[in-house]
Amino acid sequence: MSLNSKNLIQILHAEWIGSKADVLIDNISIDSRSLQNGANTLFFALSGVNNDAHLYILDLIEKGVQNFVVRHVPEDCAGKANFLVVNDTVTALQQFAGYYRNLFHFPIIGLTGSNGKTIVKEWLNFLLSPDYNIIRSPKSYNSQVGVPLSVVAINEKHNLGIFEAGISTVDEMTKLENMIKPNIGVLTNIGSAHDEGFLNLVQKIDEKLLLFKESEVIIYQKNEVVDSCLSQFSAEYMVNSRVLFSWSFTDKKATVFILKKENKSESTVIQYQYKGEKFDLEIPFLDSASVENSITCLLVLLYLKYDSATIQGRMQLLYPVEMRLAVKNGVHNCSVIDDSYSSDFQSLKIALDFLESQKKNSKKTVILSDILQSGFSNEELYTKVAHLIAANKVSRIIGIGETISSFKEKFSNITTFQNTADFITHFESLAFANETILIKGARAFQFEEIVALLEEKTHETILEINLDSISHNLNFFKSKLGQKIKIMVMVKAFGYGNGGLEIAKLLEHHKVDYLGVAFADEGISLKNGGIKLPIMVLNPESTSFPSIIQYHLEPEIYSIKGLNSFLKIAQEKKLKEYPIHIKLDTGMHRLGFEENNLDELVATLKGNTTVRIQSILSHMATSDEAKHYDFANSQIQLFEKLSSKLMNELNVKPIRHILNTSGISNFPDAQYDMVRLGIGLYGVSNDAAEQKYLENVGTLKSVISQVRSIPAGDSVGYGRRFMAQKITKIATIPIGYADGISRLWGNEVGYVMIKNQKAPIVGSICMDMLMVNVTEIDCKEGDAVIIFGENPTVIEIAKALKTIPYEILTSISQRVKRVFFR
Ligand SMILES: *Cc1c(COP(=O)(O)O)cnc(C)c1O
Repeated sequence: MSLNSKNLIQILHAEWIGSKADVLIDNISIDSRSLQNGANTLFFALSGVNNDAHLYILDLIEKGVQNFVVRHVPEDCAGKANFLVVNDTVTALQQFAGYYRNLFHFPIIGLTGSNGKTIVKEWLNFLLSPDYNIIRSPKSYNSQVGVPLSVVAINEKHNLGIFEAGISTVDEMTKLENMIKPNIGVLTNIGSAHDEGFLNLVQKIDEKLLLFKESEVIIYQKNEVVDSCLSQFSAEYMVNSRVLFSWSFTDKKATVFILKKENKSESTVIQYQYKGEKFDLEIPFLDSASVENSITCLLVLLYLKYDSATIQGRMQLLYPVEMRLAVKNGVHNCSVIDDSYSSDFQSLKIALDFLESQKKNSKKTVILSDILQSGFSNEELYTKVAHLIAANKVSRIIGIGETISSFKEKFSNITTFQNTADFITHFESLAFANETILIKGARAFQFEEIVALLEEKTHETILEINLDSISHNLNFFKSKLGQKIKIMVMVKAFGYGNGGLEIAKLLEHHKVDYLGVAFADEGISLKNGGIKLPIMVLNPESTSFPSIIQYHLEPEIYSIKGLNSFLKIAQEKKLKEYPIHIKLDTGMHRLGFEENNLDELVATLKGNTTVRIQSILSHMATSDEAKHYDFANSQIQLFEKLSSKLMNELNVKPIRHILNTSGISNFPDAQYDMVRLGIGLYGVSNDAAEQKYLENVGTLKSVISQVRSIPAGDSVGYGRRFMAQKITKIATIPIGYADGISRLWGNEVGYVMIKNQKAPIVGSICMDMLMVNVTEIDCKEGDAVIIFGENPTVIEIAKALKTIPYEILTSISQRVKRVFFR
């Protein structure tokens, strides 16, 4: 896209500060980390409550970005780049997308609904791709920010668009509609998701329908509520000869009436009636959500005038959609990013950004198949791909397919293979080790075989950590803080069991102010992993002081003895103003100076320049319990008194902090200069009302090793503590107390989830295994098992075991593999 300053000022209603020479924009970005940011990027500095991209502008200018859409020009950036100043950068991004959308005139399918949007989008893409050059929103980019980013990726070669629109409250859809302007409207399942944002179902449907204001057809599952909303909608937003194209299992008046639905062993066969004729269709799924989503696709195909034989042929090949980029541990210390289901230029860009965000290995490899759908000529396409790969500093690229092989000379450091089998034959010689590997290929190339080769095969139990949920939870607590309040995040005990380094990296990205660990070792491994944030060590032993200093960690000092021994070492090393943190005991009676130690403390520190009091802190014993409210307040008062005394007598103004997670929730007036967030980050609140706002972070998963049926009278496990009363089906799961599952959770106290059903744990939990009763569950070896996550939650387990979620989380042993995803 070539835009000049005049265009941009008009489109964005912006004020231009900078040189008005024409600018060529070929990339829109909101992500400061993307390596694709460059001279021709127009960067929109979005600012949320908790993250303000204006902070990154100077960095970006240094990286060569020249054009920014901002709310204000950051002080240190004036004169260094071109700025388009607007009232609201999100609105500006949307206006830009709306303008851009109108430059194109091919049909666009717009999808909304509560469930199934992304799946239907991916399937339609698959079903229609033989006949169209499709642009679709990547992954689930369906929000106020995701939609504009999807729309600006349209180019001249596309001839069909598929975009999804997701809303969580009223007034959002109009903005999305303005950017998507779909000709073909598709309403997927209207479930109860996101109901909080709406008064009721009718309001929710009404709001969603706004996407279809100008659509020539609306495709939906017929029911009374939707029909009545639609008749009002049609009266209000009239479009000549708009068609309602509906389907139903029960209502014969629907355009497509499903007469029969029958389960086979691995598929579902439906019979439908359309224009007076009957057709059979085999859908390769059994679950009802997939069947309904397939029927929605069927309607789109019928509307586009596909015949039943073509529909059947293509539908049979539908596949389950992997909706996120999963990072897996690979062989020889590799990480593997599995994106083996799609290949198009836009999703390649996203996958490369994701590759860049993975810091475990500095060496990066991309395994890429021919790109089947792009809208560009092959010459243009592979030139662009080669540039993109070069911009992302990929160490080596492996191209698989005849086309990419023939454009080999465009890439530096590429190895090519004619097909996947050829690659597999040469697998050993490629010597994969210590690298992060992005595997990205069109489905036809069956890259899942490559994933299987590269994936580390250990035992099957994993703790899956959702990094986006961590970000969400962080933002939730940040939103409770006053403007200038700093935040320290506690990542002790391996990030409360969730994985220390990965989480620290994420927190560093979010620019938290401090990290807190319990012991020096924990801090050292974070520093060795490249963490630059300051790290406070809560309980440093004197013997660790030299390494604390060597690694620039900051000790908490809680006694005169500790202070003296730290001072001694610090003086020997001739340190100046080394940051230390003074811990006060205000009632917890664990660590800290008491009131009667303060004079000695002041005397020791007065005039001392070896160390500097970076902060003064205390810890609350009862911030989570209403009945101890008075005690908690007395701690805060004592903290105020003691810390003020220190500050006065030493004439210093350090950071003060006393609140942990529950303190943040319950004592908003005691935020001082900083708070220390712990358990809340990991998705657990001590307050049931607040819990609703947090997202689950860790899911402990395993798989069934074996299934057997035992007759009445037989027993299960050590000590025969489970006796079958009738024929009982038993499944064995490879996780036991050595992995951190308490034995108290066995013997039918606890359960695991298999296929969304509860399977009670029978008999005693063994060291490496446990057994569950699956008599009522249709399951087999290899099926997934959830030990905790959204159901059951660690909170529920902790309650049943008379302990606290902290203990459940931190007990999960290090032999359980942690897998991170976003
Ligand atoms: C662990 C810890 C925290 C965090 O507590 P949460 O209840 O997990 O928020 C804060 N301060 C100190 C001193 C801690 O030891």
